[in-house]
Amino acid sequence: MSFESLGLSAPVLQAVSEKGYTQPTPIQEKAIPIVLMGRDILGCAQTGTGKTASFVLPMIDILAEGRAKARMPRSLILEPTRELAAQVAENFEIYGKNHKLNMALLIGGVSFEDQERALERGVDVLIATPGRLLDHFERGKVLLNDVKVLVIDEADRMLDMGFIPDVERIVGLLSPMRQTLFFSATMPPEIKRLADRFLSNPKEVTVAPPASTGKNIVQGLTVVPEEEKREALRRLIREQDIKNAIVFCNRKRDVAILQGSLKKHGFNAGALHGDMSQPARMETLEKFKQGEIQILVASDVAARGLDIADMSHVFNFDVPFSPEDYVHRIGRTGRAGRTGHSFTLASPAEGSLVEAIEKLIGVEIPRVEVPGMEAVAFDPSEGRGRRGRGRGRAPGGGRGGRSGERAPRAPRAEREPKHAEADVQAERAPRPDRAPRPERAERPRREPRAEPRQEAHHEPRHHEAREPREPRSEGRAHRERRPERRDRPHRNDRHDRDEAVPMGLGDHVPAFLARPTR
Ligand code: AMP
Repeated sequence: MSFESLGLSAPVLQAVSEKGYTQPTPIQEKAIPIVLMGRDILGCAQTGTGKTASFVLPMIDILAEGRAKARMPRSLILEPTRELAAQVAENFEIYGKNHKLNMALLIGGVSFEDQERALERGVDVLIATPGRLLDHFERGKVLLNDVKVLVIDEADRMLDMGFIPDVERIVGLLSPMRQTLFFSATMPPEIKRLADRFLSNPKEVTVAPPASTGKNIVQGLTVVPEEEKREALRRLIREQDIKNAIVFCNRKRDVAILQGSLKKHGFNAGALHGDMSQPARMETLEKFKQGEIQILVASDVAARGLDIADMSHVFNFDVPFSPEDYVHRIGRTGRAGRTGHSFTLASPAEGSLVEAIEKLIGVEIPRVEVPGMEAVAFDPSEGRGRRGRGRGRAPGGGRGGRSGERAPRAPRAEREPKHAEADVQAERAPRPDRAPRPERAERPRREPRAEPRQEAHHEPRHHEAREPREPRSEGRAHRERRPERRDRPHRNDRHDRDEAVPMGLGDHVPAFLARPTR
């Protein structure tokens, strides 16, 4: 199928051809005609499938007619991270170069004033992260009732990062007379429920089974002792023909350490994590995109949704805590039909995490050997999955005695808050002068999740409104109550029951009660 047959206008087709695309990707083929018809879309597409153009291209044509009023955007695209939002804005600039559409990008870490000026001019396309958008709304700088097209991108990421309450609030501010395009790489029940609420008679567009990994990604996994991971990584990098690579770490602390270590060993490595300032992040990213940095060591939050054309390799220095993150991480490579490679370094303690990933993606990640290094086995005492199944022995045999150096999960404080958009508090403006906002306190609290990782990552976004999470606070309360209870006589304790003084009244027993009855 050609782009010409999708119903796009000549100026859009020209921009697409100048970009060098010859054929639409499957998601573009399926979604573009439906979006142009004005229908809602429930899109299940993994990263790197060309999903962004599948909504940007038809939106340009939809918005080509009409003018925006000051502070009243005509369309809204919600993205979970700043980087992703910036990337979508770049796409709009490329594909919309033959149109006169006004665009504004509302993300944290940059000044409010410029964003306000852009809103004031009238905006056809508003691309925003939920937190910063609500800040502008609360300051009265943006009104959302004129939004005719809403895009919720990477909905499962929004869920992971704790943004769903904000997204629900934003959707509540929009007119129901709108077109909604809802995209998610995975479609867990929680996301499906949300889609059912936001969408009206949507056309479902699926280009890959939920949570599957791209076919053109050659995956490999090796089990090495934790303390040998750096050596293993260096060997793999040297052995592979690497154009550019991202190395993912679970902890932001490890990002800096690993980058330092790689540089010490002569590699051209940069770092990207949520503690870095927005300008520093942008600068590093630009250098990586330009090929000035070859290996980017990154945390999940910072690397979310990065679109680096033609990235050759992804390395997981740690097995991600969430299986969905594995799909996202390795989806950074093998994009738009190119072949990519991913290698995962698992420690013996990370067997249950690997098992969860393999369950999600439906295949076993092929075990590979690191040149000159002996692989070890997963520690059967860590996690549930590996026990008695005889799996997980990497080529080269096991050295079970060396396993279990580290529990798979890091202490809370060490982990990078997922919910940080990267670093949520910075995303929203500090408001020392303000009283707690009542609507925040009334916001429905997320139910405790079955999966502990997401609980653990869920940093309070609004300190004034958020209460301690129920299961933990309950646990603490029980522990605090315990001494009190021990002091109390136990109802089933015979000795107590047989005492002459009736229970519950202590020493102050009224005389008539203490009188023996006949
Ligand atoms: P996305 O899934 O939107 O992040 O896109 C992944 C990559 O595919 C980006 O680098 C796009 O520039 C590229 N891309 C999108 N559509 C096409 C197409 N029709 N042909 C070739 N590359 C494309």
